[in-house]
Amino acid sequence: METGKRSPVWNYFEELRYKSVRCKLCGTVMKKNMIRHLRIKHPSSFDEMEATRKATTFAGVIKEQNKQSERRCWTKKYCRRAGDMMFACVICGVVLRMPDGLFSNMKRHIKSKHPDVYKSESEIAKKTLLESLTKECY
Ligand SMILES: [Zn+2]
Ligand SMILES: [Zn+2]
Repeated sequence: METGKRSPVWNYFEELRYKSVRCKLCGTVMKKNMIRHLRIKHPSSFDEMEATRKATTFAGVIKEQNKQSERRCWTKKYCRRAGDMMFACVICGVVLRMPDGLFSNMKRHIKSKHPDVYKSESEIAKKTLLESLTKECY
């Protein structure tokens, strides 16, 4: 059962001493089964809570996807368009064939030909990711 402090179930209950909680809707005091109480006694609030929880989860997924694309995107900085599906590496000028938006070839190129650049960029990406994660937790 999801009863962590951040769970939307806390919109409907307040914490009392001795690990008891009180339903904000009807005042019933209980020690557990909050979600069950909500579902049985206040079905509309239960639906609302479920919707909130799903929305929160969904937002989390979107955030996660954005993070991943940010991580992939540093390679763009090192690409110069050189024609149809062709991109040139700005460091050494070699031209790579890449479908639009797919920078994995360039990433591979940088990794093998310019390992220092690859290393520092991956570290920045990792650090940024770590920082944003830490921020989200507090
Ligand atoms: Zn109640
Ligand atoms: Zn290069």
